[in-house]
Amino acid sequence: MGKVLIVGCGGVASVAVHKCCQNSKVFDAICIASRTVSKCEALKEKLQASYNGTITTAQVDADNPEELIALIEREKPDVVLNLALPYQDLTIMDACLATGVDYVDTANYEPEDTAKFEYKWQWAYREKFEKAGITALLGSGFDPGVTGVFSAYALKHYFDEINYIDILDCNGGDHGYPFATNFNPEINIREVSAKGSYWEDGHWVETEPMEIKREYDFPEVGMKDMYLLHHEEIESLALNIPGIKRIRFFMTFGQSYLTHLKCLENVGMTSIEPIMYEGKEIVPLQFLKAVLPDPASLGPRTKGKTNIGCIFTGKKDGKEKTIYIYNVCDHEECYKEVGSQAVAYTTGVPAMIGAMMLMTKTWDKDGVYNIEEFDPDPFMDALNEFGLPWKVVENPQMVD
Ligand code: NDP
Repeated sequence: MGKVLIVGCGGVASVAVHKCCQNSKVFDAICIASRTVSKCEALKEKLQASYNGTITTAQVDADNPEELIALIEREKPDVVLNLALPYQDLTIMDACLATGVDYVDTANYEPEDTAKFEYKWQWAYREKFEKAGITALLGSGFDPGVTGVFSAYALKHYFDEINYIDILDCNGGDHGYPFATNFNPEINIREVSAKGSYWEDGHWVETEPMEIKREYDFPEVGMKDMYLLHHEEIESLALNIPGIKRIRFFMTFGQSYLTHLKCLENVGMTSIEPIMYEGKEIVPLQFLKAVLPDPASLGPRTKGKTNIGCIFTGKKDGKEKTIYIYNVCDHEECYKEVGSQAVAYTTGVPAMIGAMMLMTKTWDKDGVYNIEEFDPDPFMDALNEFGLPWKVVENPQMVD
């Protein structure tokens, strides 16, 4: 049917490429382009023989729109799937605008020198995308991503209005290292060391990092400590879910992870302020990333399951009700299927599905949109088909 250009070739991209190959009816050609082309070539080597389509590879610096434009003009994709880092969102969107190609990503833009992610930069492209007659689908990972699709689905099928959403992201997996991150360490540590916040009664309430802790008994995983974090989908859901009063996001962390993080913070290793070291400027967090295990190497070692979902409370026919929609994903099963652990899997699968929604014109609106602004039903069906089945439970355990 069409060609996808995937930018980036890390943990998430590897899963998305596997999934595009499994879905060759939709993706009959794939170009994998990244900074380190040898990683793209290794992935092509692994998958080309069993894929019923053509894989090409390219070297690209996605910070450079001119290089991206030249690549898009050469490869002529129907959709660009951005699985590089949040820092590259705007340059890739610029290149899509210049070439008239649809755009999908999984994380909102964040300037490299400020640990603050917000949609304002990408939402500012709305009119330009409308005028160009192309679509930008923002946040097609799991969270953001599937959590927004779950919200649209709950609103469409279960509620007249949703008043409260608690998004719960539980990783019950164990990789055996005292400290490692499950996706890009730099992005992960920036996220968890920032102040927390939630949306209540029309405004943000800010908390100290990890200030709010709760326990939750996750289906198929068990009892875990979880902490309130700021998360990007809160910003768009607060606008797109009518009647909303409060949205919170919680993520589970083990004690070993938190103790190491505190120590690294205390000695300055998580700072993004450049320092001089032996005559060279380095960013402590980027140096830390270089010494930590590569998330891609965690796949063969990680056992256990993830459970990510949303608890919705709202009204239907004048009565209050609560439902929980979640997916459980097994690290070892993911590794068997695509050679990656579940955190990359739960992001790479929805990334492929988002690209499929645009490629097939199942979702077709000109402009810049968050994922909950589209019809959730075809996406929910595709989650079941491509390895992320979900459940709906009525009257679940609540979070106080
Ligand atoms: P990785 O660090 O594993 O991969 C990032 C890839 O991008 C690498 O291949 C890297 O190249 C490439 N890259 C970085 N900078 C450039 C550049 N300037 N030009 C070209 N390529 C570049 O990250 P992950 O796979 O873990 O994460 C990918 C994205 O997914 C991130 O934006 C992350 O925030 C997002 N994410 C979203 C989630 C969700 O649920 N929504 C969950 C998890 C992640 P090189 O190999 O040379 O380093």
